[in-house]
Amino acid sequence: MNEQQRINELRKLLERYGVEYYVNDAPSVSDQEYDRLMQELMALEAKHPEMDDPNSPSRRIIGSVLEGFEKVVHAQRMLSLGNVFNKEEIDEFVTRIKKDVPDAEFVVECKYDGLAMALQYENGRFVRAVTRGDGITGEDVSNNVRTIASIPMYIDEPGYVEVRGEVYMPKKSFEDLNELQTAMHLPLFANPRNAAAGSIRNLDSNVCRQRKLDAYWYYFQNAQEHGIGSQEKALEAMSALGFRVNPIRKVCRTTDEIYDFIQEIGEKRGTLAYEIDGMVIKLNDLAAQQRIGTTAKAPRYATAYKFPAEEVQTRLVDIFVSVGRTGRITPNAVLEPVRVAGTLVSAATLHNEDMIKNKDLRINDMVVIRKAGEIIPEVVRCIPERRDGTQIPYVYPDECPVCGSRLVRLEGEAEHFCVNPDCPARIIESMIHFASRDAMDIDSLGDKKIEQLHEWHLLNSIEDIYRLHEKREELLEKKGYSAKGVDKLLANIEQSKQQPLANLLFGLGIRLVGKKAAGILADEFGNMDAIRQADEQTLANVKFIGHVTAQSLCAYFAEPENIELIEFLAAQGVNMSQNKKETKQSIFSGKTVVLTGKLNMPRAEAKKILESLGANVAGSVSKKTDYVIYGEDAGSKLAKAQELGTTLMSEEQFEQEVKNAKK
Ligand code: NAD
Repeated sequence: MNEQQRINELRKLLERYGVEYYVNDAPSVSDQEYDRLMQELMALEAKHPEMDDPNSPSRRIIGSVLEGFEKVVHAQRMLSLGNVFNKEEIDEFVTRIKKDVPDAEFVVECKYDGLAMALQYENGRFVRAVTRGDGITGEDVSNNVRTIASIPMYIDEPGYVEVRGEVYMPKKSFEDLNELQTAMHLPLFANPRNAAAGSIRNLDSNVCRQRKLDAYWYYFQNAQEHGIGSQEKALEAMSALGFRVNPIRKVCRTTDEIYDFIQEIGEKRGTLAYEIDGMVIKLNDLAAQQRIGTTAKAPRYATAYKFPAEEVQTRLVDIFVSVGRTGRITPNAVLEPVRVAGTLVSAATLHNEDMIKNKDLRINDMVVIRKAGEIIPEVVRCIPERRDGTQIPYVYPDECPVCGSRLVRLEGEAEHFCVNPDCPARIIESMIHFASRDAMDIDSLGDKKIEQLHEWHLLNSIEDIYRLHEKREELLEKKGYSAKGVDKLLANIEQSKQQPLANLLFGLGIRLVGKKAAGILADEFGNMDAIRQADEQTLANVKFIGHVTAQSLCAYFAEPENIELIEFLAAQGVNMSQNKKETKQSIFSGKTVVLTGKLNMPRAEAKKILESLGANVAGSVSKKTDYVIYGEDAGSKLAKAQELGTTLMSEEQFEQEVKNAKK
């Protein structure tokens, strides 16, 4: 592969990891691995300016704005941060700044591993909390943020105030949450950051309340207009207003001072009540910050030092491969159990054959394991110096370990696949997935039971799940199967036919169609036939779906056996539709509407009604706004609408229009 091809490969890979991390809150690789690939991409892009692309993950803030929350355009973009990884790179940053600001001072703060948030106040009242989103547009998550006890709802400062900071999940809350997930047989959260992001973006604010989040605030927007001249003073001012500001920080002048403070905090970070993944170094003088400015992605006057992940050594006892429901083969490392970043690690994924080859991993090697407070451990490298002659090179299998059929590795792909549709491992995994909680949620049909029923030839396919009632007598003869238990199992299977379309779609296990994508598709199309018949472009045009997932959907529906399965399920009475996001014709269809002031009906309800009438409900008034619906005490938004000549509508008029739309 040449460097140009590698650039394309890295862009694709980082884009995918970005979606897993930001959209699904479920990363599949560690942050260190992501950062390493990003560094590689940036180095290659610097060598190949002819391949410049503003859409490259190195150039944009990859984030997302989910449906279900009101979108808010940030008055000032919310940026990411550049990274440095060692003292030399800190020094380069300091030297660069000092060229412009010879007597520069730097504030060194903790880098919280949470999600960035903007809090907005008008005349002392909290009005809105907005996520970073893609940096330009964020999500209004005020209802969830209100559940964080330490965030003030009133401040003693007139006019408009915006502060920014990080909402995070304290370590204790994270442990409690994962304990609960384990007890409920639900998937664990990968790390506190993803758990915090998932909580803040949950549509039910009760869920967020239970998750016990907290926050630190580190940025005072337009601080200079409030008479503040430095970052340190801005932190003090925020603290005086009642915002939680971290006392762990230091004003430094030299690289040595910065580095020593970073080391000091790094050593004790295990004892902090929250995760930090690094330290942020910011130029203190706000006027100088403004002069130095930003790139499209990050400020030039600040950077983040990322802590190296905790690494330990252990023995690689064995490697075995497992087969997933798509037939993907994953090699796994069996490790001598070792404690790292607070948990006992005895296994790690090795991703694919190339990773084993590139790292020259041999069985019985001593290896370095890395884990950065996350669940996913990683084998970083082997230690060849510690080889003693007992090491055995690993021969990657060319046959499926379960069904024995030849494995296939497609050109340009790193993974091997078992393509035998009758492979028992694939069949079992796909049934487990189909019956799982986020799919058809068949309560009494867990992993073990599926394996057992498969062994007895009672379950050989998803179809068989709905044929199981024909085998009632046979089941009753099996050890451990009482009449009560069997009837409950059959009743659960029957009930599962009512699951929403999104669950069924997810349960089919179509490559790249996760829970979120399934939900989006179900909302958009309303029934299975419409999804089946949509062409690739139509699917790709759906927000958050994109071309690769659209291709995967088309490939799935092009297979006759998949169509047979869907038709079989439909004939069994499995629900194949749901209310499409209803869009009645009304004066609001396709229009942008803003709600302001105190309405008699709850705002969420008004928003839901408007959306069902085809409106896009926005958070702020602009030239693009078509209607402003106002209630009592409407303030600045109403004034702005009047100024722009936007059509105004009282709540009564709005209700009348809703009635008209129903006629
Ligand atoms: P970032 O997390 O590296 O840094 C920017 C963010 O730091 C800011 O947006 C802000 O939210 C936060 N921050 C915390 N404390 C701060 C402080 N005191 N002052 C200022 N900002 C502070 O950048 P990002 O764009 O949010 O995310 C990129 C990083 O996310 C990557 O470097 C990688 O580590 C991780 N990531 C991982 C995966 C994965 O698959 N594992 C995928 C995508 C991104």
